[in-house]
Amino acid sequence: MTKSKSILVTGGAGYIGSHTVVELYQAGYLPVIVDNLSRSNQSMLDGLHSILGVHVPFYQADCCDAQKLVEVIRRHDVACVMHFAAFKSVNESVANPLLYYRNNIDSLVAVLEAMRVTGVSDLVFSSSCTVYGQPDHIPVDELAPFKRAESPYGATKQMSERIIEDAIQLGLRAISLRYFNPIGAHPGSLIGELPIGVPNNLVPYVTQTAIGLREKLTIFGDDYNTPDGTCVRDFIHVCDVAEAHVKAMEYLQQQPSKHFLALNLGTGVGVSVKQLVETFIRVTGVNLNWVMGPRRDGDVEKVYANPELSASVLRWKSSRSLEQSLTDAWSWEKAIRKGI
Ligand code: UDP
Repeated sequence: MTKSKSILVTGGAGYIGSHTVVELYQAGYLPVIVDNLSRSNQSMLDGLHSILGVHVPFYQADCCDAQKLVEVIRRHDVACVMHFAAFKSVNESVANPLLYYRNNIDSLVAVLEAMRVTGVSDLVFSSSCTVYGQPDHIPVDELAPFKRAESPYGATKQMSERIIEDAIQLGLRAISLRYFNPIGAHPGSLIGELPIGVPNNLVPYVTQTAIGLREKLTIFGDDYNTPDGTCVRDFIHVCDVAEAHVKAMEYLQQQPSKHFLALNLGTGVGVSVKQLVETFIRVTGVNLNWVMGPRRDGDVEKVYANPELSASVLRWKSSRSLEQSLTDAWSWEKAIRKGI
């Protein structure tokens, strides 16, 4: 297949980036990956090769290096940038805030700088529902004000959106996609999430406990003001999230210059932590060892998306069930342990 347009995917060896690479390629685009592999590794590129049957262009480089980005953009005549490359651990960002500000903000500014120099106008940015903090109304829509961020990680996402909004004055068109809780993996288990060390996120902790790598899962808090007392989130299959990126890019192409929009990427359905654990046990048949424990600092009680704006703007909505997401997450965990 002749590929119509090259799309620069920073962080394309990461969790959401790699799934988006698959969707882009299958939609007829040529994804060009820039990733320093600091939070990922060669196995993800091998997985992409197995899924796609080709090696997409890959540059092992740091996205804070604007000159390198300019070089790659020119070499491949890039039409749009999807910027995923960022650190994303809440705990690590509390322990090492400067690392987060340096990496997440510097790389965004470098990307914008490279776009300005080369004249690339379109940007799709990885944001997060963390920008809302604990919203006053749920489901939360895009007009909800930002609350003070709970962590330096969250602050980098809030700042990044502001930087992009300011930068559209340079003639850019940009869309910021606020992910809720992406989970699961590509159905063939060739790519997925590769947590470093002990996972902070719920689903990798569940699957690592199920496989015997962790002794037990602790559910953090059962005294929240929610139906079963545990926190409520909006868990969305990573392939649904990836598909939305392609739609977002195509939407941008129809927009006038200096356009900025932020969109929620969620299912619109709140699921409690306990419900998720019970669903995992039901669909996998695994006898998961879990206990109730105290609350975790900084956790938002409940948050799920109002997905109406993304549905109308992108003509997209999530289509994969929680059961499917957890089945795929479990298959991926088993594949990693076998050595993918
Ligand atoms: N959670 C939990 N045990 C864990 C990890 C997470 O009970 O080992 C809970 C956490 O307190 C939160 C929910 O699962 O209520 C989702 O946490 P995660 O870190 O995956 O996402 P986020 O808090 O950023 O939405």
